[in-house]
Amino acid sequence: MLQSHRKICVYCGSSRGEDSVYADAAKELGKEIAGNSNTLVYGGARIGLMGILADTVLAEGGRVFGVIPNNLAELEIAHDGLSELFLCEDMHARKKKMSELSDGFIAMPGGLGTLEELFEIWTWAQLGIHSNPIGIFNVNRYFDPMIFFIEKAVSAGFIRPGHTSSLIIEEQPKNLIRLINSGKYETVKKVPDERD
Ligand code: AMP
Repeated sequence: MLQSHRKICVYCGSSRGEDSVYADAAKELGKEIAGNSNTLVYGGARIGLMGILADTVLAEGGRVFGVIPNNLAELEIAHDGLSELFLCEDMHARKKKMSELSDGFIAMPGGLGTLEELFEIWTWAQLGIHSNPIGIFNVNRYFDPMIFFIEKAVSAGFIRPGHTSSLIIEEQPKNLIRLINSGKYETVKKVPDERD
């Protein structure tokens, strides 16, 4: 596989956020994805940062795959201008399909859905289900309190250091896309041992 043709799954808000810095960042990331010939894989909606990101990649001539459950598509929040829209049964099937389609993952600011998706794909890396790079686009230092908490979980002995060190945390989309395109998720597999 040509590294520059990685399909990158982006998890982000179905809201725009209060500050325009988040929408601007979604546009910047979209330009980097299209400019590096990466395909965007995302949740298929036309609302919030999700819609802004997809619209930017398309406007820049890039390819966008959306994955959306039937009931959300019926609520008319599905984007109707994507390169491909995959309909699926439910949210679980959606996350599985998004991960199967993708060779790398990025979380940018969002709410519960975004956080859930990030933690799930990170858990799957820990279990050896995939070895694709995972990045956090830390716009406006949005994720700092979460990173602080994760460091607490490491020092408290609930997350192994090896499971956090491979996360790519970046404030510049150019750096983030470059690192995602060059990397893989390297981790020690979580097998129970005497420390557990
Ligand atoms: P949130 O961060 O809560 O706004 O949820 C957005 C993220 O979760 C996206 O990456 C989607 O894949 C997924 N998601 C959860 N709920 C929705 C929804 N109602 N519409 C679109 N995407 C959603």
